[in-house]
Amino acid sequence: MRARDTICALASGPPPSAIAVIRISGPAVTDIAGKLLASGLPDARRAALTYIYDETGAPIDQGIALYAKGPASYTGEDTLELYLHGGRAVVDHALRVLTALPGVRLAEPGEFTRRAFEAGKLDLAQAEGIADLIEAETDGQKAQALRQVSGGLSATYASWRDDLTGLLALVEVMVDFPDEGDVSPEASAPLRDKLSALIAEIDTALGDGGIGERIREGFRVAILGAPNAGKSTLLNRLAGREAAIVTATPGTTRDVIEIRRTLGGQVVWFADTAGLRETSDEIEAEGVRRAIRTAAEADLVIHLIDGSAPPEPPPPLPFGAEILTVLSKSDLSAPAAACADHIISALTGEGLAALEADIAARITARAAAVEAPVITRLRHRERLLQGRAALASALATLEAGDGFELVAEDLRLAARHLSALLGRVDVEDVLGAVFSAFCIGK
Ligand code: GDP
Repeated sequence: MRARDTICALASGPPPSAIAVIRISGPAVTDIAGKLLASGLPDARRAALTYIYDETGAPIDQGIALYAKGPASYTGEDTLELYLHGGRAVVDHALRVLTALPGVRLAEPGEFTRRAFEAGKLDLAQAEGIADLIEAETDGQKAQALRQVSGGLSATYASWRDDLTGLLALVEVMVDFPDEGDVSPEASAPLRDKLSALIAEIDTALGDGGIGERIREGFRVAILGAPNAGKSTLLNRLAGREAAIVTATPGTTRDVIEIRRTLGGQVVWFADTAGLRETSDEIEAEGVRRAIRTAAEADLVIHLIDGSAPPEPPPPLPFGAEILTVLSKSDLSAPAAACADHIISALTGEGLAALEADIAARITARAAAVEAPVITRLRHRERLLQGRAALASALATLEAGDGFELVAEDLRLAARHLSALLGRVDVEDVLGAVFSAFCIGK
């Protein structure tokens, strides 16, 4: 990515739309405005109604131009936004003319935000929040992303990093003045206390049950039960379409089939799994293993039992999963077993609204259990785990009285991991991975 090119892109949705926003950022902005706008360069931050011309003097459109002079702009550079009529021909014409100008090219995905990051306008966690906000489909995702954009997460990470910087400074003093630096357990006690406190804080964040990631990616509900219990029929009911094959032949569902719903303001993935039974069919047996694994990773397991069939011994449900016992096929006969959370008929829809409401309530309770999740994506979790490991190693070294040089080394490593959360270290691969996931124009 050449930083000094001027970049342009359609920032609004695909045409046709009522209005198309074309965004331009970089050193050529003032030239572009002088050349293409009838108004010339508008006053900064004042909307100007103007004709926009192409290189031959033919009008592209009439629209609004908004100029922001760097560094007081999103990217930190001079930027120009053109609000045009959102027709394909208008947009194509404008982008064709712009990209034909010297030093002007189409922006890569996320490049505007990357420039904002490079200009110090936001840190990496905030930039990720912006990507999440654009992707957000539920209230839960939106609220979490907004918190991240406004720096809620960054503040936590920055405070840990600052604590760590303080600790490192302490240790480095001891390294620099070894005569005064008594490595005895008494001398290092305050350091150990601070280190333990920081580890405890990170542990609290890590022990959040993955709520932040679940809000972002969706909660998981696995439908588990014996063959022919009605799992696929229930999944299709929940999906409102024929996502899974329904047959009277047991063992039809071999792989895990997932559908996506919004319940209680959160994304919920329902997974239909292979029926649990002993089988000599190798593919079906693999399906059963996958079913168990899916259930073990789920937030909630629906254990579906055919209420019209004679009671069966319970299948090997994953230990520790929250389980809802549901009797199916209530339209066929009054269920024998009474000890169920719900009684439904996926065929008639009886009991389904109550089941959905119960699932929504349980998911909502889970999402609310952690007030403000710290960790919202795997990248953060991995960095925190690595940082925590380095901190634990520093603590062990201190406790063993093995010398401050080693402690300092561990602390520096931990600081690198925590800084990477905010993008304050030179990690091109991390930046590439984060920004390439954006849409173009952002
Ligand atoms: P799975 O093997 O657990 O996925 O079960 P399926 O969803 O494939 O259903 C097995 C059989 O039971 C099919 O013939 C379905 O039509 C039937 N079935 C499923 N749910 C109901 C229900 O609520 N009522 C009735 N009467 N039949 C059902």
